[in-house]
Amino acid sequence: MSTPSSFCPELVGCLSQGAAGNPTVAMVEAAFRHHGIAARYVNMEVPPERLADAVRGLRAVGFRGFNLSMPHKVAVIPHLDGLGVSASVIGAVNCVVRRGDQLIGENTDGKGFLRSLTDQVDPKGKTVLLFGAGGAARAVAVELALAGVARLILVNRTPEPGRRLCETVVAASGCQAETQPWEGDFRVPAEVDVVINGTSVGLYDGDVMPALDVATLRPDQIVADVVFSPPRTRLLRAAAERGCRTLDGLSMLVNQGVLGVHFWTGVMPDAAVMRQALVAAMDA
Ligand code: NDP
Repeated sequence: MSTPSSFCPELVGCLSQGAAGNPTVAMVEAAFRHHGIAARYVNMEVPPERLADAVRGLRAVGFRGFNLSMPHKVAVIPHLDGLGVSASVIGAVNCVVRRGDQLIGENTDGKGFLRSLTDQVDPKGKTVLLFGAGGAARAVAVELALAGVARLILVNRTPEPGRRLCETVVAASGCQAETQPWEGDFRVPAEVDVVINGTSVGLYDGDVMPALDVATLRPDQIVADVVFSPPRTRLLRAAAERGCRTLDGLSMLVNQGVLGVHFWTGVMPDAAVMRQALVAAMDA
């Protein structure tokens, strides 16, 4: 990276639609300031028909890398030079890293979650119950399987995406994966070590939670939510009342920022500084 005295910062950023609402800039730039890294993160509004030109432009001006948010996570792939292992299995990219003169697509959604989880427990050999089969759940399932989770139980409202995700996981790893139907309040099997809400249920609504029988949660289980707003979801509050350890979606989001900064600069930034900046930006 360039030295702090340079008048020409290194550049990273995010291509998306609805770019003005993306608070990632606050946490990434807080990390740059905290660690004295002469770089800037820029949110860029890009419609789908301009994506190819936008990526060409970022190559031309030498961006170190960039994030992708909706609707570009899949569409960007043909414009890149290669993919990391999990991005290739997931089939979506949310973080591009310049390596030499190549732009390589990574997926930090699942990696961010994995980093939060491994702060609490080694996922190797564990049994995980995952609700959801959309973009976030897919990234989490693949990353957990690649990290050595022994068994994944996938539960999705619509059966077909759940089945497809199951096939992806089995084909890509030694993980045993199965789908189970979601009828009424799901009863959490006793052998489950980690329960994850990977659906959007609870986003911006602290009064709702995925349909599961809270009485079947046990204090030795970890309960995680990908929903980051509000961070204390109804699911996490209920799980904490049952004595479970909990992991919020904000940690997953912060860890994505941590991994992005590390990919782009080689510096492993202070997650606490980034979390504080993100919370302040989201509350503003
Ligand atoms: P998608 O639209 O791709 O998937 C949504 C998922 O939620 C599907 O599995 C869908 O099931 C399920 N779902 C939606 N409504 C209901 C409902 N009423 N009951 C049961 N299941 C439901 O969204 P994403 O995967 O991209 O995002 C999911 C959540 O993850 C969002 O809240 C998002 O903000 C969060 N997220 C958090 C990140 C973080 O870093 N913390 C990163 C990325 C996302 P079906 O297939 O039946 O429609």
